[in-house]
Amino acid sequence: TERTLVLVKPDGVKRGLVGEVISRIERKGLSLAAMDLRTVERSVAEEHYAEHKDKPFFGELVDFITSGPLVAMTVEGPRAISAFRQLAGGTDPVEKATPGTLRGDYALEVQFNLVHGSDSPESAERELKLWFGSL
Ligand code: ATP
Repeated sequence: TERTLVLVKPDGVKRGLVGEVISRIERKGLSLAAMDLRTVERSVAEEHYAEHKDKPFFGELVDFITSGPLVAMTVEGPRAISAFRQLAGGTDPVEKATPGTLRGDYALEVQFNLVHGSDSPESAERELKLWFGSL
């Protein structure tokens, strides 16, 4: 079994899609090990997205992630990291995510792509420490 960090980003919370995200996670057979609604400091968002700090969209991304409450979850199950990435769909909700995925069904813009999921075991470990203090 594996653990991954899932975020329902502020756009998803504002649009009332938290239940839909949880429902798809549960229907897939994954389970929640922790969940918290919180508004984060810039320092947390900057650390979370540290790999993008030199990208032109970094400032906007941090503004967006700190713009309102988000839901952070620890999601658990066999191959949880890849399984959630499959549910989320590609980063670009129109060009990459296919219908049937969260982003493919509910998002239009790359920045407002509804959810985050860790992309590797190393990222999951780093992100779960940052968001929940432990794996
Ligand atoms: P996440 O890390 O949130 O799961 P991802 O791994 O699918 O997303 P990354 O390439 O790591 O995608 O980008 C991280 C996040 O940065 C994206 O989810 C998106 O919100 C934002 N982002 C990526 N590219 C752009 C862009 N060109 N313009 C604005 N925001 C972007």
